[in-house]
Amino acid sequence: MTKIIEKEAPKRSLNFIEQIVEDDVKAGLNGGRVQTRFPPEPNGYLHIGHVKAICIDFGIAEKYNGICNLRFDDTNPVKEDVEYVDAIMNDIKWLGFHWENVFYASDYFQKLYDLAIRFIKEGKAYVDEQSSEMIAQQKGTPTTPGVNSPFRDRPIEESLDLFQRMNKGEFPEGSMVLRTKIDMAHSNMHFRDPIMYRIILSHPHHRTGYDWKVYPMYDFAHGQSDYFEGVTHSICTLEFEVHRPLYDWYLDQFVEGDYRPKQREFNRLNITYTVMSKRRMLQLVQEGLVNGWDDPRMPTVGGLRRRGYTPEAIRDFIDRIGYTKVEGLIDVSLLEYSIREDLKPKATRVCAILDPIKLVISNYPVGKTEILTTENNPDNDTAGTREITFARELYIERGDFKEEGSKDFFRLSPNGREVRLKSAYIVKATGCEKDAAGNITTVYCEYDPTTKSGTEGGNRKVKSTINWVEINSSVEAEVRLYDRLFAIEDPAASDKDFRDLLNPDSLTVVTGCRMEAALAEAKPLDKFQFLKIGYFTVDLDSTPDKLIFNRTVSLKDTWAKKS
Ligand code: ATP
Ligand code: MG
Repeated sequence: MTKIIEKEAPKRSLNFIEQIVEDDVKAGLNGGRVQTRFPPEPNGYLHIGHVKAICIDFGIAEKYNGICNLRFDDTNPVKEDVEYVDAIMNDIKWLGFHWENVFYASDYFQKLYDLAIRFIKEGKAYVDEQSSEMIAQQKGTPTTPGVNSPFRDRPIEESLDLFQRMNKGEFPEGSMVLRTKIDMAHSNMHFRDPIMYRIILSHPHHRTGYDWKVYPMYDFAHGQSDYFEGVTHSICTLEFEVHRPLYDWYLDQFVEGDYRPKQREFNRLNITYTVMSKRRMLQLVQEGLVNGWDDPRMPTVGGLRRRGYTPEAIRDFIDRIGYTKVEGLIDVSLLEYSIREDLKPKATRVCAILDPIKLVISNYPVGKTEILTTENNPDNDTAGTREITFARELYIERGDFKEEGSKDFFRLSPNGREVRLKSAYIVKATGCEKDAAGNITTVYCEYDPTTKSGTEGGNRKVKSTINWVEINSSVEAEVRLYDRLFAIEDPAASDKDFRDLLNPDSLTVVTGCRMEAALAEAKPLDKFQFLKIGYFTVDLDSTPDKLIFNRTVSLKDTWAKKS
């Protein structure tokens, strides 16, 4: 697959699907009406690939004053569940889209069944009692014709009777299917007597329970459902392109009048360092390799939300990658770029110390505190300022002090070099204290009272500024550093089991972090920039007593350097 990196937001012209719709509207097709649908199967949670489909389905309707319905494609009770229905609706709303109606393919079970009966009566369908292996074997290959089933020419009355009894539960699962009689030598394999209905007895349907014993296959259900609803443009991914002639063929068998839904296909979204398949995601969840569908490493909408992604960033990303007919693999750094851009003006800058050591300012009065002012967000004029507490004892980042500083180490070291404490004073390290094991526990320094930020002395320039939090007012927190879920770019394309390709460092939990007081009040999904570190969001499990922050993305693209 080709790897696409595109960083400039294109001021774009119409994509090819919009062009098709626009031409159809101009030509007055279907009375100039535009209606789309988003058709998820409720067998898992939505992932960012689905968002690409959602954006075009809902986006087209919006752009051409049409409507978009949500249709649950629930024709396989074995894997489907109401849990997924609710989650899917929640995710679509969160993304900022509005459906006109909620429909279910199961709404059409009776209509589809009636249509199947009509097909049988017209000699266009027959009940086949062969095993699925046998049927597959007789299909032939793209270059060799298939073989007719011995049941192909059974009397219409017999098929009719058997099909009705299939639906009464008289025959076991797998014992027979209903097939459309088309052409076993057709150049398009999908026309070689496609299966229309199969028996499912063992699983109740999430809406119709055990009412139905036969369930329609995708090809027989989808186009018909589009037609029953009045869909004009049925937009889907490229793997359905080869199904399109059959989609049209089924409609040709019973549609009268001018109205026709039209299927059009675009390229799927695939992103580096992840897998974009519900089946594989389900495996990760079931085998405990991630912490549920909304684990912040998952490419699900729920995972992205919990990771700190915003709907705006996700939609911006989808807009940048666009819609084509060429399959590709999108670099995840493009998604990360979109969230950084979105959060830059939105996220309040705060001090968070992930690996704290104590800093004591020897010449600062014991017991004194000062209230200082700091900017909430230099990238946003309207973000204002807030107050922070300063005192004699602070926490700083362990990495910001070196006992033996080198020439190119510009932070604290007892070498006479001056460093600014962010929004406060200039200090100079004087020494440090260690525990029995030789670990530094406390750094000592002296401050220059004339250098307070915001005063004239505050303008004095020094080589570096470091973060700090005041000890007594600071709050403890856990920080979860999330990274890419997989160690290789395209796990789905590898010969190895995808579960062996997980990045062992995709999650690092850091406890005992110290945060400035403002974060004590942070609510789940609030977003911040931890100065010099990255963008973080408050985890859903975070409470005032146990604050938890998830890293959304680092400030810079560190992977680009590594690889
Ligand atoms: P998966 O392969 O992950 O199981 P699916 O295609 O079976 O996904 P559906 O619920 O059937 O999932 O998909 C609903 C809609 O979302 C379909 O129109 C499908 O084409 C689209 N879609 C699914 N995956 C992607 C993707 N990676 N990129 C773009 N559209 C997608
Ligand atoms: Mg599907």
